[in-house]
Amino acid sequence: MSTKRKIAYAHHLLDWKYDGGNRDALKASRRVTPDEYEEEMAGNLFCPCCCTNVERTPKVKDRFTNLRDPFYRHLSRWQHVACVLRAKKPKGKRYDTWEEAKRAIDHNQITIIKGFLQSKPEILGTPGVDYDETAVEDVSGPLAAVPIGRHQGETFQLPSVITTVAGICSNFEVNKDKYFFLPEAQHAVQLADLLTNVNELPSNILSTEQSPCLYFGRVKSSRNAGSHSSNIRMTRLECDSAIGDFTIKLQDGFCREKGINDDSTGRIVMFYGVITQNGSGLAVDRLAWGEIALVPSKYNDLLMPD
Ligand SMILES: [Zn+2]
Repeated sequence: MSTKRKIAYAHHLLDWKYDGGNRDALKASRRVTPDEYEEEMAGNLFCPCCCTNVERTPKVKDRFTNLRDPFYRHLSRWQHVACVLRAKKPKGKRYDTWEEAKRAIDHNQITIIKGFLQSKPEILGTPGVDYDETAVEDVSGPLAAVPIGRHQGETFQLPSVITTVAGICSNFEVNKDKYFFLPEAQHAVQLADLLTNVNELPSNILSTEQSPCLYFGRVKSSRNAGSHSSNIRMTRLECDSAIGDFTIKLQDGFCREKGINDDSTGRIVMFYGVITQNGSGLAVDRLAWGEIALVPSKYNDLLMPD
């Protein structure tokens, strides 16, 4: 997978602090690209996505001696705050004992995901009760053998859940820093590090075998390709021009139940699926009930700051 995670600009605000600092004030402050950086700004530059401190590399000179473009990077001091723009992948979370791992689950620090809900739960279809997209639909899964022991090859039998992408998004500000162990995964990783922006997909992605992953992208347009709710709704996501186009192909009726309709332009969708070929572009299709959701707009800045 490519890692084209670039911090396009940093916010510059004197004496602002991540802990307790007013986010709106930061968002309104000056945006400084790596090229516009001046040395006096050091120490007062912040990531537009996670709001922690970033530093410009190189710190003083305009350019690297090898003419590589200067860039911003996160500081290891803020590693506990996960960010989709963080380039360096942290190692998977590990635990010394079963008790320690179980306690982390009980304290909501890690979730073992056995799978995503395949069909809409009956209870949500109660007539007269509006479906609440933020409802947490988790159901208990079986005990799962999870390789998150500190020692090589050590697995613990731990309780798992069958969950939904909607549930993961509904509290995204907290969940982005939380550890998740996805089905068939090797490591427990913070949610922000599990997510891939469709914008960052390399054009040759299908030259390797694809497995299901968590993706997100911004809706460019969405329309029903037919006139019935059983027809396919084509939802295009922003992507690199080298890819051509990226389409979510799902039944119109299913999409509308998920809140995805003609007015979804600009919204961010998150899904768990396998990327496939679609004409000259890419697509994802056959997603189950729990595998796709619209991200609440209030979290847009945590995923794709303007
Ligand atoms: Zn960040």
